[in-house]
Amino acid sequence: MRLPIIYNLDKGLSNGTTSSIKGILTSANLISASFLGVFCLTCDRLAQTAACRRNRVFAALLDNFTHGIIGSWTWAVVLGGNLNSTKNLRQIILAGILASCMDVDHFLAARSIHLKDATSLQQRPLFHMTTLIPVIAIISEIIICASGLHRLHYFPYLFTLSWFSHHIRDATRRGLWLWPFGSTPPVPYGMYIGLTLVLPFLIAILMSITGSPIHAVELHRVLHRVGGIQQV
Ligand SMILES: [Zn+2]
Repeated sequence: MRLPIIYNLDKGLSNGTTSSIKGILTSANLISASFLGVFCLTCDRLAQTAACRRNRVFAALLDNFTHGIIGSWTWAVVLGGNLNSTKNLRQIILAGILASCMDVDHFLAARSIHLKDATSLQQRPLFHMTTLIPVIAIISEIIICASGLHRLHYFPYLFTLSWFSHHIRDATRRGLWLWPFGSTPPVPYGMYIGLTLVLPFLIAILMSITGSPIHAVELHRVLHRVGGIQQV
């Protein structure tokens, strides 16, 4: 498996961060990221067409589809483009679902199942708050460590990537909502494309630097010590 995560629970950090970064920056991964840029440009161009603007349902479906594919695609880049295992495919599908289903908060905030209500909100719905991402990521990390489910160590990173990719794309219209600090101005279109392409590499490098899942194991031990439970 060509995962960029280089930590082996038995052997420790085997190759070092430098070699893992080389593993991430493969030509296949860079080409894949470039095609992702073409995909974003194509979908966004399609969304600007008069036919799409006229049809609210089609526009919403296209928007949701684009978010989902970006989520899946970026996580596939994190995984080094390795689609040969069921585990990786499950993670890629999960990333897409998280990136696209985030917009369910429009309906929850509108308390309506009607698209017109969901897209006519005066305020931005909760899941679009960017400062919520690190909070959920840290809470999920603590839950994973406390419950000993170290095989899910990838989840906080996958979640961060999925939701942040969605936020960046939405930010071209309304900026990033950084409650309680306010909102940024709308993100320039080129910056959105650039961040979308760079983000999976940053996440993969972050996973290598944090030595995941070593920190998950350590945090699990700390939590058990704090809880007065015998260390596993
Ligand atoms: Zn959205």
